[in-house]
Amino acid sequence: MRYISTRGQAPVLSFEEAMLTGLARDGGLYLPEAVPQMTAADIAALAGQPYEDVAFRVMRPFIGDAFAEAEFADIIARAYATFTHAARAPLVQLGPNHFLCELFHGPTLAFKDFAMQLIGQLFQAALARRGEAITIVTATSGDTGAAAVEAFAGLDNVELFVLLPKGRVSEVQRRQMTTPTAQNVHALVVDGHFDDCQALLKDMFNDFAFRDGVRLAGVNSINFARVLAQVVYYFSSATSLGAPHRAVDFTVPTGNFGDIFAGYIAKRMGLPVGRLIVATNQNDILDRTLRTGQHVRHGVTPSISPSMDIQVSSNFERALYYAYGEDPAAVAHEMAALKEGGGFTVSQGALESLRETYASGRASEAETSATIAAERSASGEILCPHTAVGVKVAGEHPGADPMVTLATAHPAKFPDAVEAATGLRPPLPIRMGDLYERPERMTEVPNNLATVQGLIRERIQH
Ligand SMILES: *Cc1c(COP(=O)(O)O)cnc(C)c1O
Repeated sequence: MRYISTRGQAPVLSFEEAMLTGLARDGGLYLPEAVPQMTAADIAALAGQPYEDVAFRVMRPFIGDAFAEAEFADIIARAYATFTHAARAPLVQLGPNHFLCELFHGPTLAFKDFAMQLIGQLFQAALARRGEAITIVTATSGDTGAAAVEAFAGLDNVELFVLLPKGRVSEVQRRQMTTPTAQNVHALVVDGHFDDCQALLKDMFNDFAFRDGVRLAGVNSINFARVLAQVVYYFSSATSLGAPHRAVDFTVPTGNFGDIFAGYIAKRMGLPVGRLIVATNQNDILDRTLRTGQHVRHGVTPSISPSMDIQVSSNFERALYYAYGEDPAAVAHEMAALKEGGGFTVSQGALESLRETYASGRASEAETSATIAAERSASGEILCPHTAVGVKVAGEHPGADPMVTLATAHPAKFPDAVEAATGLRPPLPIRMGDLYERPERMTEVPNNLATVQGLIRERIQH
């Protein structure tokens, strides 16, 4: 399997190279040259199988010969052994035809663990074999950084820097990043918001001297290996609800468009996915784009669902690549307009193509809180604020097929928002109980590329 850039000007890479590279050298994102197909019989055979077996069969064709079959199976087993639920991604019923897929049973209580635990294992195996060491820099709105710290802390051949926006992540999220004691983990608190952190990261990738000097690698959802890991739970949940014999709709609380784009890959592989519904909070650039065709950045307004406080949604570039008929020049043109002018108008043909796949909706702060309270009375489920955005938007899209809303985080990660809505303060799982007592370690940095690069160079020990 070969991987190509959405902007068409970067080297074509193998799975392993694309995984270790992250962002393409032309600023684009890697995608498989052709998406592998599964037949209805292949899909039917997944029903009722252990999550690890579904993961193996869904991901194997994307990996090519990067890992031997037995090694890959072993990596998957180790990645999900850290989860505390036997089903890994269990379904819970909210109403007659509405289900939650709970993606928060991993070590940091958010769906990011599904991909990060896996790529931690994949990186370790690939780097050991190559005898190489790398520097990972990641930008986070809260959950990616925590999941990366958990996955990469203590690894010999990785130095990990997490750029997190000052004052914009929940206390649990911050502590998950600042309390680990491993010396290869560095939490850098940036004086800015998530888009600033992500822009710093992209600028580091585009500074080739720095990139090559520190052997920079990326584990944000620009990394296709992360998207791939997330394709699996679309298969496990849809087959539990009757696929391939009937279609299933998904509503996905969305920020950087990685999780929902994984649903699109599942659909392209042959899974009967009906509608993919983008649910945004008040930072609603994606909902506006799908409604109006105008992809225009506004400022980021902090919300009670901070992991979705994003206006530059990286993986939307991958969706645009397919919507523009796999034309890299058209993608490069629109992305340049976004960077230079703050926006662009999606062409009519591309907009129609996007609307064939995606629907959308948004939830205000008040609607998010009201949904947490209402769901508690309706089904007894306590939703995290991100999941509540999804449940609210799913409710606006009734249909004949089962609806699955992805529950992206555990409510205990966002206790203030949940308590404000319900009067209940959700407790942390026992294994994380002393998080509030552990000492924190972090470095504050200005939103300035040269300063952050200097600090990273200084800290690198290998
Ligand atoms: C990251 C995150 C999201 C958004 O996912 P994207 O892949 O960035 O669209 C939603 N909810 C939670 C809890 C998250 O951590």
